Amino acid sequence: MATHTPANLPERIQHYIGGKFVDSISGATFDVLEPAGNTVYATAAAGQKEDIDLAVAAATEAFENGPWPRMLPRARSRVLNRIADLVEAQDARLAELETFDTGLPITQALGQAQRAAENFRFFADLIVAQADDTYKVPGRQINYVNRKPKGVAGLITPWNTPFMLESWKLAPALASGCTVVLKPAEFTPLSASLWAKIFEDAGVPDGVFNLVNGLGEEAGDALVKHPGVPLISFTGETTTGQTIFRNCAADLKGMSMELGGKSPAVVFADADLDAAIDSTLFGVFSLNGERCTAGSRILVERPVYEDFIARYAARAKNIVVGDPNDPKTEVGALVHPEHFAKVMSYVELGKSEGRLLAGGGRPEALPDGNYVQPTVFADVAKNARIFQEEIFGPVVAITPFDTDEEALELANGVKYGLAAYIWTSNLERAHTFAHAVESGMVWLNSHNVRDLRTPFGGVKASGLGHEGGYRSIDFYTDQQAVHITVGPVHTARFGASQ
Ligand code: NAD
Repeated sequence: MATHTPANLPERIQHYIGGKFVDSISGATFDVLEPAGNTVYATAAAGQKEDIDLAVAAATEAFENGPWPRMLPRARSRVLNRIADLVEAQDARLAELETFDTGLPITQALGQAQRAAENFRFFADLIVAQADDTYKVPGRQINYVNRKPKGVAGLITPWNTPFMLESWKLAPALASGCTVVLKPAEFTPLSASLWAKIFEDAGVPDGVFNLVNGLGEEAGDALVKHPGVPLISFTGETTTGQTIFRNCAADLKGMSMELGGKSPAVVFADADLDAAIDSTLFGVFSLNGERCTAGSRILVERPVYEDFIARYAARAKNIVVGDPNDPKTEVGALVHPEHFAKVMSYVELGKSEGRLLAGGGRPEALPDGNYVQPTVFADVAKNARIFQEEIFGPVVAITPFDTDEEALELANGVKYGLAAYIWTSNLERAHTFAHAVESGMVWLNSHNVRDLRTPFGGVKASGLGHEGGYRSIDFYTDQQAVHITVGPVHTARFGASQ
């Protein structure tokens, strides 16, 4: 069992439908584990099609007849700000629960809780500042955009930073006036049920937010296939995204897909090496390496390669792995034994695909729980599986390069294209490389910090569509064009000739 068990843990995690906590109609449940000891600490309601039907019915009623979609932006904005206040006020409790359920180090979980509040505050501001297009066609017409929320949004989220990633979808969906059905990840259902009380206390009307727990193939699948849900926002693995894409085709649903990554961090010889080492360590080992934008392939220019890998490996060996609830911990426990087994299989594979410089297994002092040593492989070839495949754990592949062209070929030589990190003091090279790299986001001489106004999303197998700022509002709304004649009507007069 984890060293710290939060007080008042629920033994049963339920759905929240139409303003009430409920079990599955069938009574089906699934076990929920804590990752530091892999002990079952709760059962969660396992939603089936009939539970999704109820949740969509509640969300549809709230959308068609409730006040939420019809409120003035300022009124909705006030509610969103109250949500942010409530999240901030309980950030320590949120972090405690999230750490217990996911194995994320407590200091990092706290940062994620605060970011969740910030997501609500940001969209609260955005909707009151929003202006839509209006065009005057001199002497003829005025055209304007009538923006309308799309309806019931299906939100499907993964287990890494679950509460924060849920907020990333909930905030713009609710800000836009949509009502929602959230299906959180089955590995980590604990924090999602906190939304119910937060929304209730903030004044969100019943039926606007609905939560159905359950397995992806059951509850998630039923949500994706429900004809009353016109749009699906999904974050998760690329293969799951492909299945959902196919299943959305029947009803031509709107889709936003934030998928996997295998992002390169490119370190040129002219870089500030100290800063690059700090950032590339944080980039792959923060959040236990369970991070979609992890810079999990580091490409290093040959003249500084040996120096870089020696210093990098020394630091990796020194990373504090341990009890997720200890503020000194830098890498906690991986989310679930199944995921642990997957990451460990890559660690073993890496021993034949690269030169092991740090880690390579479970820390000796931690015989239980899903702990993995920060693991560093050098001299990894482009065709190696640990170079190509998303591991989603504290494992990094480092590869040398000799020229800018080779670096670009290596950076782009995978199916993913989520993020890229570039370290160089040459301004021209930095921008040229940034523009040529196949990724949705690039950080130059920077670790992963993102202003909420900027686009977020991947290219290639890393995603479809971009959210962030107004792009998120665009996803959850329709922009209907309205055209009004202001001068005389100029219509070709069919049938009026002699
Ligand atoms: P996953 O794809 O296994 O599951 C994600 C969600 O989809 C879960 O809620 C799951 O229950 C549900 N699901 C599974 N099968 C489904 C189906 N057939 N129909 C509908 N729903 C289904 O992903 P995961 O293992 O929970 O998360 C890790 C992955 O998420 C990694 O690949 C990571 O890169 C990615 N991720 C991407 C981003 C991003 O913004 N690009 C952010 C975080 C995580």
